[in-house]
Amino acid sequence: MLFDAHAHIGEETDSAFIATSSTDEMDFAASYRYRALGIIPEGREKDIEKLRIAARNGWHIGEVGLDKRYSDLPEQERIFREALRIAREYSRIAVIHTVREYGRTLDILKEEGIHGFIMHGFTGSYEIACQALSLGGMISLSPNAERAKSFEKLLALPFLIETDMNAGDDQRNALEEWSRKLSDRIGTDAGERCWEMLKDIL
Ligand SMILES: [Zn+2]
Repeated sequence: MLFDAHAHIGEETDSAFIATSSTDEMDFAASYRYRALGIIPEGREKDIEKLRIAARNGWHIGEVGLDKRYSDLPEQERIFREALRIAREYSRIAVIHTVREYGRTLDILKEEGIHGFIMHGFTGSYEIACQALSLGGMISLSPNAERAKSFEKLLALPFLIETDMNAGDDQRNALEEWSRKLSDRIGTDAGERCWEMLKDIL
């Protein structure tokens, strides 16, 4: 099974893990089999209650995280921590979005005792990737990862694959192409491995 570890709302599909960036998307995402509810980058207090309701009803949590491009990092961090506590309380996966804040994000994951997480759209360093894995987390590579300095080294690690696109034909085609490219490089079926890594925890 070719599985997309991170996509967004589009056509109905059971072969993608659908994440949202706003709780406003909750109604649209509800019909997907594999889904997470998130708030980036500017979640507010009222969203936290929605995350809790979602987690109670079987949703995973995400995207949540830190994004240096947006203001008020202390407030982002406060909301991020609250979201992580919900994921932990209900044993849900936390889908992490982080931009230029990898070190801080890992510290927070450690401090909050989070083990089941996916660092999606990973473009950080090899060292950060290893730390994430040693915490029990996963990294997920989109085609953007090819531009990361660490790309060649990351290929030696276990990773998920993703498009970060809206589910549909374009997303499926992009996923196929990305999976083929990576599989050729690593000598393993990257799409199949992605599903193997996720199937028992989603
Ligand atoms: Zn996304």
